[in-house]
Amino acid sequence: MSIKRGLIIGRMQPFHKGHGQVILKTLEEVDEIIIGVGSAQMSHTTNDPFTAGERIMMIKRFLVEENVDSLRYYIVPMEDIEMNAVWVAHVKMMTPPFSTLYSGNPLVQRLFYEENYEVKSPPLYSRKLLSGREIRKRMINNDDWQSLVPSSTVEIIKEIDGINRIQHLAKKEKNEE
Ligand code: NAD
Repeated sequence: MSIKRGLIIGRMQPFHKGHGQVILKTLEEVDEIIIGVGSAQMSHTTNDPFTAGERIMMIKRFLVEENVDSLRYYIVPMEDIEMNAVWVAHVKMMTPPFSTLYSGNPLVQRLFYEENYEVKSPPLYSRKLLSGREIRKRMINNDDWQSLVPSSTVEIIKEIDGINRIQHLAKKEKNEE
């Protein structure tokens, strides 16, 4: 029996309820899921505040809380490379074999489509609210961001002093203007 594996890749800055929904929905279709943590080299900016390791913690704790069998997922940090044309080969080298890519990002979809992977576009959940950009904006402005992320993400952000970090970075950038 061959194992069906699917790949999801995202910056997850931070990991939010939309990401969680897509992962749980994809797990209904595949035996195993590979979760690529994109732009893994990025951290400590207002656009990319959290390290790859911190984002892995958010995802892992969410999956544990959802009682997902740990044999059914791989979480792989994935650094960006300058060359879009060979990015899929780079991703392939870093991950277990997979047959299907799940993404709503047109560039990601296109690059995998051109390499003959099956590409699926999962439904979007409250995209206006459940977006990294919206959540980071709320973190900076002391608005409610907690309701848009799983409780696991709230806990990790507390543990790593994440709100002070992003607010500090936002101030620094303002002073530089
Ligand atoms: P993201 O965190 O915005 O989204 C991740 C996935 O979750 C996407 O498929 C998105 O459609 C889905 N999603 C987000 N919000 C959702 C919601 N509310 N409901 C349902 N689904 C939702 O990340 P992204 O920007 O798609 O990440 C792509 C990564 O791939 C980036 O890190 C990028 O740098 C990397 N990349 C690198 C190269 C290269 O290195 N050359 C090329 C292409 C992409």
